[in-house]
Amino acid sequence: MVVRMRHNRSQSAQRRSHHALKAPVLSVCKNCGASHRPHHMCLECGHYNGRMVIDKEAAKTAREARIKAKEERIQTEAEQIAPSEAEAVTKAEPEEQK
Ligand SMILES: [Zn+2]
Repeated sequence: MVVRMRHNRSQSAQRRSHHALKAPVLSVCKNCGASHRPHHMCLECGHYNGRMVIDKEAAKTAREARIKAKEERIQTEAEQIAPSEAEAVTKAEPEEQK
C-alpha cells in the first residue's frame, strides 16, 4: 500500500456505515401462527398462502423410515464383515455405559 492510498478514519467510518446487520423480517403463518420468511413456505407446517405445499408429516415419517432402514443396513453389513467383532462391540457397549 502506498501513502496516497491511505484512508483517514472518517473515510473508513463512511465505508463501514453500511456494514451493520439488520434484523430479519418475518411474517406470521396463517395456518399455524409460526413466524416464517415472507414469500416463503412456513417451515413448521409446510403451508404457503393458506395452501399446503409440502406435507411435513409425511416427509418426517418418510425420513425416519429412511434413517431406520439405513441403520439396519449398516448393522447387517457390519455383522457380515466381522461377526465376531460386531458381537464384541455390542457386548462391550453396556459395560462402557456403566
Ligand atoms: Zn405454518
